Amino acid sequence: MQRFDTARDVALSTRPDHPVYCFHPRVLVEDARRFMDMFPGETAYAVKTNGEPMVLKTLADNGIDLFDVASPAEFAAVRETAPNARMLYMHPVKAQSDIRLALETYGIRVLAIDHEDEITKVTRIVRALDIDPGQITIYVRIQTKGHAAYELSKKFGAAPAHAVELLQRLHRTGYKVGICFHVGSQIEDPDTYERALRSADWVRNRAGVPLAGLDIGGGFPAEYGHDPRRKHVEMPSLGQLMSRLRGDIAEWGFADLPLVAEPGRVIVARAFSLIVRVLLRKGRRLYINDGIWASLSDSWTGKITLPARFIPDPAIKNRNGNSKSIVPFRVCGATCDSVDILSRPFWLPETVDTGDWIEIGHIGAYSMALRTRFNGFYPDTFVEVETPFDEGEEPDSFASLETMAG
Ligand SMILES: *Cc1c(COP(=O)(O)O)cnc(C)c1O
Repeated sequence: MQRFDTARDVALSTRPDHPVYCFHPRVLVEDARRFMDMFPGETAYAVKTNGEPMVLKTLADNGIDLFDVASPAEFAAVRETAPNARMLYMHPVKAQSDIRLALETYGIRVLAIDHEDEITKVTRIVRALDIDPGQITIYVRIQTKGHAAYELSKKFGAAPAHAVELLQRLHRTGYKVGICFHVGSQIEDPDTYERALRSADWVRNRAGVPLAGLDIGGGFPAEYGHDPRRKHVEMPSLGQLMSRLRGDIAEWGFADLPLVAEPGRVIVARAFSLIVRVLLRKGRRLYINDGIWASLSDSWTGKITLPARFIPDPAIKNRNGNSKSIVPFRVCGATCDSVDILSRPFWLPETVDTGDWIEIGHIGAYSMALRTRFNGFYPDTFVEVETPFDEGEEPDSFASLETMAG
């Protein structure tokens, strides 16, 4: 992979006409370590957030030896880049052949379920492979409620009384059991974990079986930009959120249990930025060479304002407008699809024009993972960039929490 000092160097020296992902490995390591230092348990990186081999390898080389996986492709990706890592198979609804592969070929011994029929599926395979259920830990996923950019409680999770029955049934069959939840992604309410812990406590007390662990899932918010025209929901910093979580864990009596977290977004969001080019400017609309069917689908569904930095093309000599005036631009994606328009604007100087570049920051989570080949566009160029998006020269045009909200 080619290496550069800044994204601006990438743009000006290679003049890319197609999107370029800038990988910042130092940021990835820092953000992973920061999480591990703050969380009082094991950290299992959620592979679906960004399963690029460079990400898995960088994490594995820097002390992450536990991965949350959901599919054969994820088992293989982890095994290939981190052969000694352990995997947690935390998808509650699994294909029988995938369960067999996990247990037999990959030696996975930790799974999640949220229904008795899933227990039946797992047990049939455990018996067929003649594995002692006592070697396997099965987490019962419980429902949670709360506000997140992505709510998942409607899809997965057993109601509390049902979870009690599932735990008892698993215990009777001889499995080790745990409780897990996943509150959704990019939580928008700091009380979310506390509510989930309260449910977990209720379930534990009713179930009356020994617990092997508590897995609190992911959901930790990453930092994005902020649209100054919208009411700003103040979220605590990760440090504050974690200190509160540690307090809640102790208060609800889970501190002595082995704990696991499955962060994705908060670890990998800042580790990539993306250079896109303005293919055409039409008034306050910018047509760029990426969009919701490629790297920007998460920002679209999650209604996330992405921090954007202007990289002007020095070849453009005459510009209209005031370069100090930062204004919102509607962003249209590369495909012919009319829904391919971002749900939030980019804030840029009013001088931006056809041919300029934009560095989009904090794009590492659910961006390359959700790319499609729709309409034949598939960004796949990677470079390594030393200077993180948030460092280096003070951007003249960087709409972020810090620079625009104040
Ligand atoms: C997606 C997912 C995660 C990661 O969520 P983030 O919000 O990216 O931290 C963790 N656990 C499970 C079960 C998931 O489905």
